[in-house]
Amino acid sequence: MITIEGAIDLHVHAGPELFVRRGDALDFAERARAAGMAGILLKAHHEATTSRAQLASRLVPEVEVYGSITLNRYVGGFNPYAVGAALALGARAVFMPTFHSREHIAEFGAGTYGIAAMTVPDHLSGSGAGLSVLDDGGELLPEVRQIVRLVAEHGAFLATAHLSTTEIETLVEECASVGTRCLITHAFHVPRGDEDFYRRMARRGAYVEIAANIAYPIAVHQGHAMTLQQAADLIASVGPERTVISTDGGQPFAPWPPDLLEAFVNSLANVGVAEADLRRMICTTPREVLGLPADSAPPEGDTTTG
Ligand SMILES: [Zn+2]
Repeated sequence: MITIEGAIDLHVHAGPELFVRRGDALDFAERARAAGMAGILLKAHHEATTSRAQLASRLVPEVEVYGSITLNRYVGGFNPYAVGAALALGARAVFMPTFHSREHIAEFGAGTYGIAAMTVPDHLSGSGAGLSVLDDGGELLPEVRQIVRLVAEHGAFLATAHLSTTEIETLVEECASVGTRCLITHAFHVPRGDEDFYRRMARRGAYVEIAANIAYPIAVHQGHAMTLQQAADLIASVGPERTVISTDGGQPFAPWPPDLLEAFVNSLANVGVAEADLRRMICTTPREVLGLPADSAPPEGDTTTG
């Protein structure tokens, strides 16, 4: 049995949110502590999670709880002021748009993931074409360039969320030239890129996230699933030093994130992924994405992350 002790889950959805969640930030931090995990990063579709992360970190000091911001219309889309404020308050990740992105709307429709529990009312749905990081000529928007620089200045990382493969390629190039760490989230979900795409992006310096949820029933139902073999092949192709295993968990139809993570890494072990590689992808590579020292405790006195 492979343990998730010391793991950092870079992608969990705690409540309150526009969708039903299993619990709030404190519930998630307590579960992570019980599993011996080192940290969790909170994502929300509608607001920065910095405040709740800071409170949860104080209440559960054994677990580092990191905050983030997601650039849906609820924060003004590609809004450098919202990003700047979140980073100033300790956000460690800036997620590109999720269900307000052009790619998401094309894949799932506006304001929905295709299931009732993950559908928002019309006035919150962000209908229309949706957000893209590119202008009509295929160039990155100036405000997106500004955000990429802000992320680098604060030593945080940028996550691609629900952008298309074309958008991601452009953004990964920009991140490489600026020196911004970039994580391509939930491979095979959105975007649907193939193995070759992820390998090319990793060679350009991006990290690739394999999210446990994408191997579970709702993703199968959505038609956006990944098999264990696909995950194992992707790890072999990209390499554990560029791959992060997280959960994207928190939904009521998925197990609590630590249980989801443990089940998933043990499943991958059973299709041939080496234990040392699995441990690297849940402990060490996430630390590198966060910009932390490779394998040690957080810096002394640094308990106010979030
Ligand atoms: Zn997510």
